[in-house]
Amino acid sequence: MSELSFAELGLDPAVLEAVSSVGYETPSPIQAQSIPALLSGNHLLGVAQTGTGKTAAFALPLLSRIDASVTDPQILVLAPTRELAIQVAEAFTTYASKFRNFHVLPIYGGQDFYPQIKGLRRGAQVIVGTPGRMLDHLRKGTLKLDSLKALVLDEADEMLRMGFIDDVEAILAKTPENCQRALFSATMPPQIKKVAQTYLRNATEVRIESETRTVERISQFVLPVYAERKLDALTRILEVEPFDASIIFVRTKAETTLLAEKLSARGHAVAPLNGDLNQRQREQTVEDLKRSKKDIIVATDVAARGLDVPRITHVINYDVPYDTEAYIHRVGRTGRAGREGKAILLVTPRERSWLRTLERATNSPMQAYELPSPVELKKMREQQFETQLLAFAEDKKLAKTMALLDEIAERNEMDMAMVAGALACWMEAAQPGSLPLEQPEALPVVSATPPPRRDRKGGRPGDNRKGPKGGFKKGPKGRGGPGPKGKPPGKGGKPSGKRPPRQADAKR
Ligand code: AMP
Repeated sequence: MSELSFAELGLDPAVLEAVSSVGYETPSPIQAQSIPALLSGNHLLGVAQTGTGKTAAFALPLLSRIDASVTDPQILVLAPTRELAIQVAEAFTTYASKFRNFHVLPIYGGQDFYPQIKGLRRGAQVIVGTPGRMLDHLRKGTLKLDSLKALVLDEADEMLRMGFIDDVEAILAKTPENCQRALFSATMPPQIKKVAQTYLRNATEVRIESETRTVERISQFVLPVYAERKLDALTRILEVEPFDASIIFVRTKAETTLLAEKLSARGHAVAPLNGDLNQRQREQTVEDLKRSKKDIIVATDVAARGLDVPRITHVINYDVPYDTEAYIHRVGRTGRAGREGKAILLVTPRERSWLRTLERATNSPMQAYELPSPVELKKMREQQFETQLLAFAEDKKLAKTMALLDEIAERNEMDMAMVAGALACWMEAAQPGSLPLEQPEALPVVSATPPPRRDRKGGRPGDNRKGPKGGFKKGPKGRGGPGPKGKPPGKGGKPSGKRPPRQADAKR
């Protein structure tokens, strides 16, 4: 992570205010390098993939350089897909939220022309779109670039792969000579280099390099999951992993608090760790983790810097890191003091290319993390219930409760199984989900490799990009990593009288 704060980068105050309301703590490495270059008016060539924070890396400085009171298009972003165009438009809307009368317009193929033309007539300072449709509007004269100050090519290698490069060049040729240009691409194939040489002369080059570092004693796992099911996946991981203490990494301060609240509601002893806490509060949180008052910490990269707690057996990367350096730092929070550690990374379909990148950086393969099937999970929950039950069979109050229940059974002509069943139903009514009665729902499976995309003409272009297939190995079952020996599945199994973590996650 960068040492500079957003405030030190020289962004427009309104943009800075918006960044601070989203809760970003510090600029990611690509942001720390790109923002000053773009603010000074240079062209920029960025080698970066999704997840590095590249959208803010160009959006924040470019928004800081335009005249927000002029409603003509001043920033144009070309993106390979409708999804990315919408995502980038949303990001711009967030970062420009403190400007008045500001409009960001996404424009992509497959949507009616009319609402797009209406939006263009009304005026929008930022237009984000796919190349084909953008070119259509330029040719029709419905989009004019006279006031354009900056053009961004986002995921340029994807646009090439999808057969859009001619459209991109045609648009580039129509942009004003003095317009600032930025090109972001995960890889630099020769055609993209050529575009850069022609249209981005003397560009500042930004790439996030990092040395290969081995992560000894840490087994690395990856679980591809849809973004909206990340919480369900995490809940299950925490249920089946025999962890002692665990650190969960997220991107924003707000997310540390939000996720900690959700996990706490699920019965975990958890605390957030972020830059909003003062030094004393942070030390207290780490102390609580060391002394087992808390078992889980949800942290940002900055707040967890240098954290050294030997009982951390698991690092869970709930959000992908910004770069390999951050990843290596994160996973290094486990496997301390010569112990073994386990790192689990959740990736959404769009982030799957991180796999290869991280394998290369750490020089070790990622294994596929396998969540138990619903049937296995139900069985585990039953075993856990049994363990808890047996623990109470040695309780001091057992003799008294047995005498009372014997009397009740005799008076009502019930056998003991019926009495026990009625008691269990009572427990379930008081704390829904505490009995393993239902079979949990299966989480949808996401493939580890990105599906081939269709190009505009409906064909399937050959996927010449090296996907994460490489070292993606099916590992041993995801669970069963390092952890305190002799503990029952789940946490502890102590007859503490505390109820076990709630198990109704599957229905949430
Ligand atoms: P991108 O690489 O642009 O797709 O960004 C990936 C994610 O990182 C998005 O969800 C952003 O909201 C988030 N993000 C970008 N910059 C930062 C930052 N400095 N701090 C925290 N989160 C960020």
